[in-house]
Amino acid sequence: MGDLWTRGLLPAVAACTLFLGVLTGPVYAAESRIILYINENSIWPATPPLLANGTVYLPLRETAGLLGYRVEWEAATGTVLVMRGDWRLRLRPGSAAVEAGGQPAAMTVPAMVVNGVVVAPLEFFGLGLGATVGVTRDESWIVVQISPAPPDWTPAWYGDLVTGGQGPAGAGIGLGPAGTPGGQRVVYLTFDDGPDPYVTPLVLDTLKAAGIRATFFVVGASARRYPDLVRRIAREGHVLGSHSWDHNYAAVYGSPQALLGSLNRTRQVIRDLTGVDTVLWRAPGGTPGHMTPAMWEAVGGAGYVEFDWTASVADATWPRLSSAEILGNVHAYCDPLLGRPIILLMHDGYRHEQTAAALGNIIAYFRAQGYTFGVLTADHPAGRRGP
Ligand SMILES: [Zn+2]
Repeated sequence: MGDLWTRGLLPAVAACTLFLGVLTGPVYAAESRIILYINENSIWPATPPLLANGTVYLPLRETAGLLGYRVEWEAATGTVLVMRGDWRLRLRPGSAAVEAGGQPAAMTVPAMVVNGVVVAPLEFFGLGLGATVGVTRDESWIVVQISPAPPDWTPAWYGDLVTGGQGPAGAGIGLGPAGTPGGQRVVYLTFDDGPDPYVTPLVLDTLKAAGIRATFFVVGASARRYPDLVRRIAREGHVLGSHSWDHNYAAVYGSPQALLGSLNRTRQVIRDLTGVDTVLWRAPGGTPGHMTPAMWEAVGGAGYVEFDWTASVADATWPRLSSAEILGNVHAYCDPLLGRPIILLMHDGYRHEQTAAALGNIIAYFRAQGYTFGVLTADHPAGRRGP
């Protein structure tokens, strides 16, 4: 092991192993040697795997590279970027906090720097990078076996961590769009499932009183049924998008043609009622688990731009939450995102009066944090035309 390791750190680690190991993972004998296998090939990285805090650490760049990820050091922010496709994970040595696809989460123990090389705990490769990780040991050897994540893997566990086990489409925080610009205090209030004759006017009244614009993803059939509400949404300066014709998953996601037809029909109603031709849409239930490559090709090819959310007030449960509980969700899910742009999911559909009742306080929360209020546009960087 390197200098930092032999000079001082090892005795401290050995002393701590017994205690920290209980909290942070398996306890391995300090004298163990580590053999690393990737895809059943034994690997001897330039920086050897090491033990600290009762867990195995692997050199990040080398191991992630062998698993098919690109790793870059971003000197300006002192962070490491781990990339696959357009997915980004950011971590900072010494901190257990990570950020994946725009979402914050935490490892059990932080990555650290040893001899100028960033090493990451084994859990990172299993959870953060979706790899299959196996560990066996005897008295003197620890054998680590890693296989890359399957190509269709999505880093849903970060959402799970943040929301306490609820999936990205269920509640809390969805899979954030990659490439959302950072450092801007802009919140995009979005309302799904309306218009509703009781809830939507309450929402519109509150927005009007606050002088704020929002984005409404309307259900086509409801838009046709409540034309005056759609006209009012447009007249008061808000942005309209499609949330499918009938929100029936089986129908909406039945085929690429069915999805495209559902969006076209809704778009036509909005255009007939308001004169606004919108290409914005939000996938009912979010895109994860619903959209296939062929569906993306169909709707992206037709010019539609999809917006998932980066945070939710989690108001879609039944029975409905109280307005106080909804405001509590805003704190729970948005506090960790403060300082960044937030696309906030809310609902103005059937029986969402409590969301309308919480809206004034939700606006006050963001104002107190120095946020301004934006509306989504087709050229917004979070908009998606493909997978
Ligand atoms: Zn919906």
